[in-house]
Amino acid sequence: MTKRIFHSICFTATAVITASLVMTVLVLYSYFAEVHHDRLESQTKLTAHSLANEGMSFFDGLNAYDYRVTWIAADGCVIYDTSKDAATMENHADREEVAEAMENGYGESSRASSTLTERLIYSAQRLPDGTIVRLSCSQFTVFSLMPKMILPLVVIIVFTGGLSLFIAYRLSKKIVKPLNELDLDAPLHNTVYSEIMPLLERIDAQQNELKHHAETLRKKQNEFNTATENMNEGLIVLNNKGIILSINRKASELLSISSFGVGKNLLELNRSGDLRVIVETASGGELAETVMNIDGLDYHFSASPVFSDSEAAGVALLIFDITDKEKAEQMRREFTANVSHEIKTPLHAISGYAEIMQNGLVKPEDTGEFAGRIYSETQRMITLVDDIIKLSKLDEGANTLMFEEMKLLDTANSAVQRLEQPAAEMKINLSVGGDDVTVIAEPQLVSGIVYNLCDNAIKYNRENGSVSVLIKDCGDYAQISVSDTGIGIPPDKLDRIFERFYRVDKSRSKQVGGTGLGLSIVKHSAALLNAEIEVESVVKGGTTISVRLPKKQRQQVPA
Ligand code: ADP
Repeated sequence: MTKRIFHSICFTATAVITASLVMTVLVLYSYFAEVHHDRLESQTKLTAHSLANEGMSFFDGLNAYDYRVTWIAADGCVIYDTSKDAATMENHADREEVAEAMENGYGESSRASSTLTERLIYSAQRLPDGTIVRLSCSQFTVFSLMPKMILPLVVIIVFTGGLSLFIAYRLSKKIVKPLNELDLDAPLHNTVYSEIMPLLERIDAQQNELKHHAETLRKKQNEFNTATENMNEGLIVLNNKGIILSINRKASELLSISSFGVGKNLLELNRSGDLRVIVETASGGELAETVMNIDGLDYHFSASPVFSDSEAAGVALLIFDITDKEKAEQMRREFTANVSHEIKTPLHAISGYAEIMQNGLVKPEDTGEFAGRIYSETQRMITLVDDIIKLSKLDEGANTLMFEEMKLLDTANSAVQRLEQPAAEMKINLSVGGDDVTVIAEPQLVSGIVYNLCDNAIKYNRENGSVSVLIKDCGDYAQISVSDTGIGIPPDKLDRIFERFYRVDKSRSKQVGGTGLGLSIVKHSAALLNAEIEVESVVKGGTTISVRLPKKQRQQVPA
């Protein structure tokens, strides 16, 4: 900008100086031409006067160096000429100045000379006798002045040019200095030139707009960060070169990438081959997924391409923990295998007994016993199928539960009543006692819990043993404890007895008609009721299983 101002000032100064010089020359020239002209006129008048008085003798001894004098008769014939022989000269009546003098008494004219630097000026005066005297002289043209004026002109141009350069340099610096010192962070605080105030106001408005945009962006970024930071899933956003644009806390932890990883290439920070494959596939515009095991947990990696104007502009990588899902899948597979196995055994037995009977290998008196075995195997299967159905209903979750007020003593009494026969067979004493507590719960689930616990307490008891159910009011919750005097459970097996199909002693369980699902049903039911289970057992001393049941269920019961 300084340069432009400097050039502009130089150009203006040069133009002004040149114009001034040209005008000065022209004014001077016209002044001197006028003086010259006036002198010629007065000289013509003097000559006319003398010639009128003296006649031809006027020319005697006349030294006409400066002027050429021509005396012309009234008809235009040249009488005398100081430069030429009058007899050889043509008639001058048609000369402009002569014709004008003849008519008006005085006339003048000018004509170009053979050279550019001179021109001839004429002045004619009519004498009283009608003759005309004409004076002429040469006058320099403006071009003739040039050689004489070159030196002073050069001096003037050099001086004024130098002065112009100096002034232009200083001026341009002075004009630009305040502009360079503008405080653009506070545009309206500058009071330099009023002409640039609209520009500063515009800058100020744009800065405010930018600040507003930046603030909005910052808020959105914060919202995004807050949302992603609290996610249980890992989230990484990459650009199309694999550079990390954003990574949340969970993803940083899983891939061991610190927050300084932003701006770096993901595949350089984590060299997993599977990760490379899915990121590169997604960069090519296709969804890619893989499962990776990190610290013993299974994680599903899903890399989706992010499109901008139908071109893959980046990749969004979502990482979620599927360990529970995998576990559930595994459990389902195991459960199916167990169910098949459990059903296969009685079916084989039934099929075997039936085949023996069909082949007539059973004596008529033994038919009843074989039919009894088939019946008991069938009963085992029915019990098993019933338990499986109960479990699958519990798997459906809390949506189907109907909570209502119920008295725990009544529930315990009715469960115990249903077990009186098997208890009597083993001469086991059954008792129910404790506080008369009312709770809000699902009656079928509570009844199922008490029934299963009492059933086990009888099955794994000894003859002449006892089973007691104790209900206790513990403030916010009620405790149902089922104690027996049975065989007890070894301490190292206590953790496993709630697993599906787990039995401490398989043959004993089968012998007493166990399915291996009773305590699974108890555990599942307790979970749906937000209840806690506690087991205390002494081998050969007896077992007490307690269930702590909240008196009022929370609004939402976890599935
Ligand atoms: P089951 O149908 O075999 O009884 P459960 O799931 O009810 O299956 O119980 C699992 C295992 O826990 C039983 O096989 C048994 O070994 C053990 N068990 C359960 N309750 C008792 C108890 N009161 N005393 C001793 N052992 C028990």
